[in-house]
Amino acid sequence: MKICQTIASIRDFVRSVRNKGPVGLVPTMGYFHEGHLALMRRARQECTTVVVSIFVNPIQFGPSEDYETYPRNTERDLHLAREAGVDAVFIPGAAEMYPEGYATYVDVERLTDKLCGRSRPGHFRGVATVVTKLFNIVNPDIAYFGEKDAQQLQVIRKMVRDLNMPVKVVGIPTVREPDGLAMSSRNTYLSPGERRAATVLYRALQQVCRAVAKGERDPVYLQQMMKEIINQEPLVQLEYAEIYQLPDLEPLSVLKGDVLVAVAARCGRARLIDNVRLNMESLGEK
Ligand code: AMP
Repeated sequence: MKICQTIASIRDFVRSVRNKGPVGLVPTMGYFHEGHLALMRRARQECTTVVVSIFVNPIQFGPSEDYETYPRNTERDLHLAREAGVDAVFIPGAAEMYPEGYATYVDVERLTDKLCGRSRPGHFRGVATVVTKLFNIVNPDIAYFGEKDAQQLQVIRKMVRDLNMPVKVVGIPTVREPDGLAMSSRNTYLSPGERRAATVLYRALQQVCRAVAKGERDPVYLQQMMKEIINQEPLVQLEYAEIYQLPDLEPLSVLKGDVLVAVAARCGRARLIDNVRLNMESLGEK
């Protein structure tokens, strides 16, 4: 497995393998868990060459957020990437990506002013910018992103369409712990008590799934139900529990088509997000 710390070296590597077949890119911030590995394994199945980037992107963190303390373990990450059959890891420093005088940003409008965009101003601008740079540096045929970050996935799909980027975006289902908690590098912030409390997010989402399966179609009722469930957990402070139409994240008055049910909350030092996607057609709705 090749380890590249500079833009020039990953470009050289990709150039040397380009004619062998499709190149897959898995962008990450490292501190790998099974969710990251699921993306790498899917890329391994579909691509001749798999590139993983590890970069804790400073411009997607707000001033009071956890950029400095974000968990990092490069040795372990490289070991896991090697085991997953990754061909190259791109692991640049911040100055390689944002040299002195850096001034260009990518903004996806509208999709980013709700859900996480509301409480994290500038976050998706940072994400769209770094993903654009990674696409331009690696030039992948296919890029892999987790459905766990549902709004991020929609923002990237929209950016790729709007800017005619020649890359296919693949979304990978959320990988969970046995008790339902969505895997996240930030779960490491949780104390044992907070870790137990954190499962309330998934329990609330499951309750929505059950109500919808029984015929409930009112988003206001379902949102209220999630809020009540999450507010019963004193260690968890709800940020939002909302339901939107996919893919454009428009509000809806009755559940129909493709629907995103998304929650975010604080639990101790961790900000946790989770979601489920419901396809009303496949539930027998016309
Ligand atoms: P991160 O390192 O947290 O920025 O995540 C890198 C990629 O892995 C993103 O596309 C995430 O959506 C994806 N990811 C993170 N957690 C999970 C999970 N539990 N299941 C599936 N994908 C995930």
